[in-house]
Amino acid sequence: MLIFGFRLINIVIYLLLVARAGYRLMRDKPGSRYGLKLALAVLSLIALYINVTSGALVREVFEVTDRAWRGIGTIPQSGWRLSPAYADFDAETRFDVTGITTEESGLCRSGEVLQGLIRPVECEAFGRECTPRSPLGAPMVSSEGACAAYYQFRRLEPPVVTA
Ligand code: SF4
Repeated sequence: MLIFGFRLINIVIYLLLVARAGYRLMRDKPGSRYGLKLALAVLSLIALYINVTSGALVREVFEVTDRAWRGIGTIPQSGWRLSPAYADFDAETRFDVTGITTEESGLCRSGEVLQGLIRPVECEAFGRECTPRSPLGAPMVSSEGACAAYYQFRRLEPPVVTA
């Protein structure tokens, strides 16, 4: 008989012990799927528990706020900021940074790229004024950005051979 507390570490250890019992059942009775099902069920419970507890932690530390997205503009209730209880750690309240804005290039159509309205190659600046070495917009800056990925891995049209 097992006697456990209800702290997180107790519950995780208990679930791991049950998962191990399921594994041993599966190992000792290879034809039976009950062990596998038991182990998977317990692991799912552990993942669910971690999701629920970490979600509660996020909601305690942060609150939802309007957020400005580069190339798109402000989307209501689309971002997070520190909750009032953690305002002492908020750089926006500790330092004078609230007036900082980012100038977007007039050539850049990153908003349309990010919304899936155009492909990066449909931007007139793609591969001309805008390359990974001199990016005009966020999607060309990091390697996983849509424009940078298109630039690196696009399939080029075969050259036209004239006789
Ligand atoms: S290719 Fe460059 S300029 Fe065009 S949308 Fe992408 S990041 Fe902006």
